[in-house]
Amino acid sequence: MTGRVTLVGGGPGREELLTVAAVRALGSADVVLYDRLAPHARLAELAPDADLVDVGKQPGHHALPQEEIEALLVAHALAGRHVVRLKGGDPYVFGRGGEEVLACHRAGVPVEVLPGVTSAVAVPGAAGIPLTHRGVSRLFTVVSGHAPLSDDELRHLAGLGGTIVVLMGVNTLPQLAAGLARHGMAASMPVAIIERGFRCDQRTTIADLSGIVPAAGLAGVSSPAVIVVGEVVRLAHDGDRSAAELMERAAGFAAVAP
Ligand code: SAH
Repeated sequence: MTGRVTLVGGGPGREELLTVAAVRALGSADVVLYDRLAPHARLAELAPDADLVDVGKQPGHHALPQEEIEALLVAHALAGRHVVRLKGGDPYVFGRGGEEVLACHRAGVPVEVLPGVTSAVAVPGAAGIPLTHRGVSRLFTVVSGHAPLSDDELRHLAGLGGTIVVLMGVNTLPQLAAGLARHGMAASMPVAIIERGFRCDQRTTIADLSGIVPAAGLAGVSSPAVIVVGEVVRLAHDGDRSAAELMERAAGFAAVAP
């Protein structure tokens, strides 16, 4: 008997942000393959009957190559197991969920995808930043900063208006900021970087476009972080601090909230 695969969006890392469907899937799993950014602290309790396999990706090097993850998913399912592939955020937002679904289809393995709370929306929200706001922004664009954006992409982004959300963008922030400025985005455009959203050490750094690179450098910003560019950043608050206070604190540089 062939088993099955459930791709589960685990949300941005806090266990409470797993969906009811995700908890249910974990409860019936025989094997769980999980990522670094998925909530995994209490997996042994949530998936009591499952073998737990860390296929976690550290930035810069993959613990397990994608093809091997896909081969594992398929092999376990063909052996009759219910395999849960627990991912950070939503499986279809820079999560390679599409590739894993195709691998299952190719092998004739039944697969279901459970959506998750994506960090692209939830992490800005955790810093009080709404991606849309009446009269301020009526569109948002989510881009990967894993590799530097092309000049063409930067030109389009700079002219689009609305809110820009960048995932995996800490290393390419200098190219992003320089590119947006080169294509006419105002130097005063506010930018927020939210690190480790929903964890106890969440931190928000805010500066304007011209100051965000030195601010990030001074703050020692590191991955995982979500970058937000747009007027909505002025609505941010982190704990008791407003965006203005966050920006002021270090004179436009390194405004850091705990
Ligand atoms: N599928 C995921 C995204 C995977 S790409 C989703 O929908 O959220 C990994 C990137 O997501 C990280 O580099 C970072 O930019 C972002 N990210 C995920 N969880 C995060 C968190 N808790 N805090 C800050 N950024 C996070």
